[in-house]
Amino acid sequence: MGSWNEACQACGTAGGPLTKFSLGKDFFGRSYDRLSPLSDQNPKRYCAACSIHKNLQRDFRDIRAEFDKLRAGQGSELSKGDEFRRSSLRLHEIMTILRGTQQQSPFLSGHDVTLLMERLNTLTMPV
Ligand SMILES: [Zn+2]
Repeated sequence: MGSWNEACQACGTAGGPLTKFSLGKDFFGRSYDRLSPLSDQNPKRYCAACSIHKNLQRDFRDIRAEFDKLRAGQGSELSKGDEFRRSSLRLHEIMTILRGTQQQSPFLSGHDVTLLMERLNTLTMPV
């Protein structure tokens, strides 16, 4: 326990304030405990920049998972018009943030985000 405060677990930056990252709710407001009980048992510590990127990655993954379900014909949050629009907006926001930061995200590549945005655009928006 005592060695937590040393360095960011993503980029290795030491000496700055670190944030404990705990998953909590996903992008669609669902509890991670219910979905993936193992994922939240070892909260990691990240520096400020990395926590921002970690949040982006979490939202991106949630959206991509729902997109995959939708394409597979399973029940998906994206079959709801509101969630579809919200997800689409969030992807744009993520892209804007990725483009606006100097630091390369340790978690997420802009290419993946662009790809998912393009794939979302090929779908008909549900009503
Ligand atoms: Zn970091």
